[in-house]
This record gives sequence, C-alpha cells and structure tokens, in this order.
Amino acid sequence: MSVQGITILGSTGSIGVSTLDVIRTNSDLFKVIALTAHCNKELLLQQCKEFQPAYAVLADESQVNSFVQDLKSVAPATRLLVGVEGLNEVCRLDEVDQVMAAIVGAAGLLPTLAAAEAGKRILLANKEALVMSGALLMNTIRDNGAEILPIDSEHNAIFQSLPDGRYNEGVERILLTASGGPFLHTPVADLVKVTPEQACAHPNWVMGRKISVDSATMMNKGLELIEACWLFNVACDQVTIVIHPQSIVHSMVSYKDGSVLAQMGNPDMRTPIAHAMAWPRRIKSGVATLDLTSTASLQFEEPDEIRFPALRLAREAIEAGDYASIVLNAANEVAVEAFLSRQIAFLDLTHVVEHCLQQTYSNKVEELEVILSVDNESRKYAMSYIETLN
Ligand code: NAD
Ligand code: MG
Repeated sequence: MSVQGITILGSTGSIGVSTLDVIRTNSDLFKVIALTAHCNKELLLQQCKEFQPAYAVLADESQVNSFVQDLKSVAPATRLLVGVEGLNEVCRLDEVDQVMAAIVGAAGLLPTLAAAEAGKRILLANKEALVMSGALLMNTIRDNGAEILPIDSEHNAIFQSLPDGRYNEGVERILLTASGGPFLHTPVADLVKVTPEQACAHPNWVMGRKISVDSATMMNKGLELIEACWLFNVACDQVTIVIHPQSIVHSMVSYKDGSVLAQMGNPDMRTPIAHAMAWPRRIKSGVATLDLTSTASLQFEEPDEIRFPALRLAREAIEAGDYASIVLNAANEVAVEAFLSRQIAFLDLTHVVEHCLQQTYSNKVEELEVILSVDNESRKYAMSYIETLN
C-alpha cells in the first residue's frame, strides 16, 4: 500500500481523535494532509503541532483572528483555510486519497459531497449526511469513481460480513445490533426527568454528545437503519434490529443456507476506522484482542418500540420517501440541541420529530438545492414547534 494522504473532517471530535490515534500507530502508511475543526482551537492547534498537516481548516470563521499567529508558531508550513469553502477544498486536493467524514450532523454534507465529486475514498462516520442525501451521495460516488467505506461500527461489521463487501442474492437478512443505550431497562415513568448528563453517559462507548443523546432515544439506530438501506442497497424490511447490550457483536448478516456471519471485537472505534482506512488490507489499530473467555455472556433481545418510538419513526420515514428522511434528521438535530441546552425534556425528543414528520409527504429528492431547502425549512419548523412546548 502506498502512503495514503488523508483529510480528517472533524479531527477534534471523538472519531477524529481516534483516527489520529490509528495514524500514530501506522505513521509509515498514512500522511495527514488536512485537519479540520469547528471551533475547538486549542485541540486543533495541538494536533497541527504534532502532525504538521499541509492545511488546517477552522469552519467557524469568527474564531480565526487569534488562531493565525498561534498556528504559525507551532506549524509554520500549515496553511489555514476557513469556512465551508475551506472544508470543501481540503477534500478535493490531489494529494488526498482518503477523507474521514467525521463532522457531526448536516454540516458534514457539503464536504462529503466534495470528496465524492473528487473521486476519493470516503470513510463515512457522518451518518446524518447519508440520511439526508442518500440518493445524491450514492450516485455522486458511483459517477465519480469514489468509494465509501463505513466507519459506523455496525455498518463496518455488516460490510465485513458480506462477501467482497457487497450485498448478494444469498443474503436473507441484515441483523443490525444496538446496545439499547443507557435507558434500556429504565422504567418509562423515570424517563420524564432524564438530564443531558444521564443521557450522554453511554454504558459501552465514549462518543460526542449528539450521537450519545441519539443512542439514548435509539434515534441513532433509526438513522443507522436508513444508513444501512443506502449503503447496502436493501429495503428496510430486510433489516432486523437486535438489542445486544454488551456491544461485542457489532452486527450480523444472515444467509439463505442458515449461516449467520458476525463481526466481533471490543467496543472501540479504532477497529472499524483502521479496517476502512486499510481495506482490503489489515493493519494494527491499537485495540486489544477480544478475549471471549473473560467477556460477560452475550445477550440478544428484541427492541421495545413503545419505549423507543424513534425506531418506528425511522421506518415510517423510509417508507414515506427521501423527503421524510431529511425532515427526520433535521428535526432530530434541532431537538437534540434543545435538549442539551435544557429547553426541552428527554421525552420531547422523539415527540418533536414525530410532529415534524406529520407535515411531510412522499417524494424522491436527489437535487442538492432541494435537500438543503427541506433541511432548512424543517429546522425552522422544529424550532417554532419547540417554542410552543415551553
Ligand atoms: P463530536 O461531537 O465528538 O465531533 C464532531 C466534530 O465535528 C468536531 O471535530 C467538530 O469540530 C466538528 N464540527 C461540528 N460542527 C461543525 C460544523 N458546523 N462545521 C464543521 N465542523 C463541525 O462527534 P463524534 O462522536 O466524533 O461523531 C462524529 C460523527 O461520527 C457523527 O455523525 C456520529 O454520528 C458519527 N459516529 C460517531 C461514533 C462515535 O463513536 N463517536 C460512532 C459512529 C458514528
Ligand atoms: Mg453505530
């Protein structure tokens, strides 16, 4: 494998930090070309000092002033770019082979599309980008000879459990596992008073705040269901969600002959990250080998859709069409923000999404302008609905 140039979108986040750790372990195989952050200047600076990338991008332009001099002093050769244009630019560079798409939420869509247009290998963590633009992103990847490799641990596991990484006619079902999050068995009556701190305390994974809240409502699994349909070109009724609280089996594929293939490992995102970066080779990730004899027993159960209405909402959105997936994602992002800033209660999270979905109609959406306008309108609608809740 020749040395791979990599841009990391969202290098200061949980996935970004794990990606840099995999690169540290394999510094002979990867070269960091660009690092990007929204506004965490301190960490971006520290990362630039260590990796000396050709480019650094600060997405939040208002933060730039004080950063220019600081960057010069630790990484004099690093060029500073700003805003969305800066993000797009570092995805298109000739010296970039791979783009780690690890920005959280819809903000990651445009640079991920830029990477697709430029024919790069996309390492997709940013599931929201795919949920809101499934047809457009997958078509852009196909038309430009780009590649998409899943970072989400479940989708990476499914990819690993499919021959040649592709869906084929011998497949019967995809079994998408879910830990169930911190409230798997909490009495429903107690969910009323859940705080952001409790919702963000995931039992198995340490992640950014948005995905942690999504895991607590299981909207994360709803988004992942939509993600799986696009990545593997399957209908949503071919995907079964299975609760597996230990997060050791990361997902499975069930075949017509009765075989079930699973991918297992310790719950550490460096495994899927290293897998996708090196595929089809295997490299060290820094993750300890799974020791099944010292692991608690592995359990599997059916999800409770009354407790977790997000699963039903995601299925309804897929059935209603692409438009509804954009609304689901946008309303959810707005609701999560409002919950984290203590504007709404935990149970309002899925309630807001359900309310916004009632306004949608069936439609195919493949044009970027339409996607962005539906996203924008849905955000406004969700915000005004949240106002009425207070
Ligand atoms: P995080 O909140 O820890 O990090 C988000 C990153 O995105 C940060 O670097 C931040 O600076 C950047 N960012 C945020 N808003 C931005 C904006 N407007 N413009 C540009 N950059 C912006 O999130 P995370 O947990 O690393 O998750 C990142 C993505 O990966 C999410 O889509 C999440 O669903 C997905 N994912 C995460 C995990 C995990 O274990 N953390 C697992 C699977 C998938
Ligand atoms: Mg996941």
